[in-house]
Amino acid sequence: MNILLKKLKFNQFETFPELVHAVSPRCFENDQGEIEDFSFLGNDNFGKTKDHLKVFLESIGITNSGLFFVNQVHGDKIFVLNDADLAFSDAMKISADALLTHIPGKPIGVFTADCLPILVYDPRLKVIGAIHAGRKGSEQSILFKVVREMGRVYGSRPEELVVGFGPAIGGCCYEVGEDCAQPFKKIFPDETGWFRAGLSGKCFLDLIAVNKMEGEKAGLLQKNIFSMDHCTCCSARKMYSYRREGKTGRILSTIMLRP
Ligand SMILES: [Zn+2]
Repeated sequence: MNILLKKLKFNQFETFPELVHAVSPRCFENDQGEIEDFSFLGNDNFGKTKDHLKVFLESIGITNSGLFFVNQVHGDKIFVLNDADLAFSDAMKISADALLTHIPGKPIGVFTADCLPILVYDPRLKVIGAIHAGRKGSEQSILFKVVREMGRVYGSRPEELVVGFGPAIGGCCYEVGEDCAQPFKKIFPDETGWFRAGLSGKCFLDLIAVNKMEGEKAGLLQKNIFSMDHCTCCSARKMYSYRREGKTGRILSTIMLRP
């Protein structure tokens, strides 16, 4: 199978041999040599989703486990996977927008198409996290809350965490109504780098800039925050983009501690 996985990894995460991680590209070459779009949680039946999840996980070396993901609802709930016997099918029913675990051999992941996927790693305590940070989740400070929860549950220190921002719609393309910017103006009254004015009451929101500020507020160090900086909407990589395509597939960002 020939997919451009190497380019969809965080170099910094690759320096930890105990970690497996990747962000899914749009397509892969199937066994018949055809280019096939990844279909995770699309409108297809779950059979295809399951097949494609398996194809993708195997391509990054995860062969003996399915993916743990939750029912994403654009909120700020954090699911801590601490029961090694929990089934995928039960995790799927939990409504949350972030997952944490310290259990090796359990790949966790989030699905996005324009929203910002964030992967987190605590190299000292060997704890991983995956976050779905869209506009609504960011507004509810989901990254800040995940860092706080890692401290509470595991004893993580923010300054030791390594964080990767995957592909999301950029400030170049993410035009929203002025009302959508208001909550962020309240949270960051002194900052201006996260938005720019558009035409007739619209503005462009930079989710990555917002989440960098959230991360720093939580105590992350700037030098430990890494961003792929591919805008899903205008990047030549043709990532899935809800804004550009409407009905579309999903990007999977996953991370696992090797068993
Ligand atoms: Zn763009």
